[in-house]
Amino acid sequence: MAKGLFQSPKGVRDILPEDQVYWRRVEDAIRKIVDLYGYERLDLPVFEDTGLFRRGVGEATDIVEKEMYTFKDKGDKSITLRPEFTAGVMRSFIQNSMDQLPKPTKLYNIGQVFRYERPQAGRFRQFYQFNVEALGEVDPALDFEIMSMAYHLYDELGFENLSFQINSIGCPHCRPGFHEQLTSYYKQRFNDICTDCQTRLDKNPLRLLDCKREQCQPIIEVAPSMADCLCDECRDHFKTLRRYLDDAGRLYTVNHRMVRGLDYYTKTVFEVWAQGIGAQNAVCGGGRYDGLSEILGGKPMPGIGFAAGIDRIVMSLQAQDHLKLSRPAPQAFFVTQGAGAKEQAVRLIIELRNAGISAMLAFGDRSFKAQFKEADKRRTRFTIVIGEGELEGQYVTVKNMSESSQENVPWSELVEYIGK
Ligand code: ATP
Ligand code: MG
Repeated sequence: MAKGLFQSPKGVRDILPEDQVYWRRVEDAIRKIVDLYGYERLDLPVFEDTGLFRRGVGEATDIVEKEMYTFKDKGDKSITLRPEFTAGVMRSFIQNSMDQLPKPTKLYNIGQVFRYERPQAGRFRQFYQFNVEALGEVDPALDFEIMSMAYHLYDELGFENLSFQINSIGCPHCRPGFHEQLTSYYKQRFNDICTDCQTRLDKNPLRLLDCKREQCQPIIEVAPSMADCLCDECRDHFKTLRRYLDDAGRLYTVNHRMVRGLDYYTKTVFEVWAQGIGAQNAVCGGGRYDGLSEILGGKPMPGIGFAAGIDRIVMSLQAQDHLKLSRPAPQAFFVTQGAGAKEQAVRLIIELRNAGISAMLAFGDRSFKAQFKEADKRRTRFTIVIGEGELEGQYVTVKNMSESSQENVPWSELVEYIGK
C-alpha cells in the first residue's frame, strides 16, 4: 500500500494493535502493585507553564537545557509538554492543598512524557512513564517501600536478576562541602576532561560523576566520594535504608557515581537494574527530593518517588523469549450463508457476549471460502457455521480450528458448549 502523504514525526510512533497485549500486561501489573501498596492515581495535564519545569527540574539538567518541547501558545504564554511527572505532581499537591491528606500522600501517574532527544532504539520523543511519588515523610522505611514497589513491578512482570544501584547525594547541609571538594579536584584536571564536563564544572558539578565519555572515566574513578562528606542525618538515613534492603535480601550495589540527572534530588537516589536487556541496564530510576516543594513556593514537604519507562519495559518483554505474549483472539467466529442464517448468528452472538464469551460475525455477503479465510486470519478458537441445513435443524456446526475437529451443537446448548 502507498505510504500516504504524511508520516509520523521523527522520534514518535504508533503503538499498534499487535503490541497492545504487552501494554495491557504492564498496565495490569501496575494496577496490581499500586493497589498492593496503597497508591492512588493522579492525572495531570500534558502541558504546564514552562517555568514549572525550569524551576522544578532545574536549569542545569539535560532535560531543561536540551530536551523540552517548549512553545508559545496563542496567548503568548510559554508552554512546555511535560518531560517528567514529579514537578507536576508537586505543583498539583500544593495547588490542591493535598497536605491536608494523610501523610505520606501516595500518588501515581501513567502517561506520555515528551523529550526532544536524538531518537534511537528505546529512546523516543514521546514515551510513556509509570511514575510514583510519596509525599510528606522523611522516614527511610518509605524509601525502602518506594524501592520495593519498583522492584515488585519488574518481578511481577517476570524480569530476572534484578538488583539496585543506590547512592546518597546528601542534602543542602552536606552537599556544598562535597561540591567544593569535587570542583577543586576537577579544576586540577581541567585540561583532561571533555568539553561537556568543563561546563558542568560550573553549573552542575555532581553530574561530572555520570559523564559517559571514555576520556573522563579514569578521572571519575578516583574522584572524591559523597559518602565521605555525608552529614550525620544523611549518613544515618542511608544506613537505615541499607538495613531494610539487607533484611529483605535485596541485592544492591552502592554506586558512588550514580547521581541521577535532576537538580532536585536529596539523600537517596536509586536505579533498578535488570540483566539481559541489552545495553540499557537501568529499567527505572528515582530518589528523594526533600527540597522541591519549597523551590515551587510550597511549604517544606519531603518526597520520594521513581519513574519507569513503559516503552522500554515492553521492548524488553518482547525481547525475552520466556516473556513473549500472544495477541488475544476472539473465541467464536460465525460464518453464514443466507439472510436467515445471518439473523440467527446475530442472535447467538448476543447470547455468547452476554455470557462473557467473545464472538464475531463475518460481515457482508461472501462465499464460505472467503469467510473461512477471515476466520483463519483472526485466529479464532472456534468457527461456527450456519448454512441451510443448520438453519433447518436449529443447530450450528462448530469447528475447533486448532484440533481440526467439528461437532453439531443445538442452538440452545451453544453458550454452554463454547463456555466450557
Ligand atoms: P536515560 O539515561 O536513558 O536518558 P533518564 O535518566 O533520562 O534515562 P529518567 O528521567 O529517570 O530517565 O526517566 C525514567 C525512565 O524513563 C528511564 O529509566 C527510561 O526507562 C525511560 N526513558 C527516559 N527517556 C526515555 C526516552 N527518550 N524514550 C523512552 N524511554 C525513556
Ligand atoms: Mg535522559
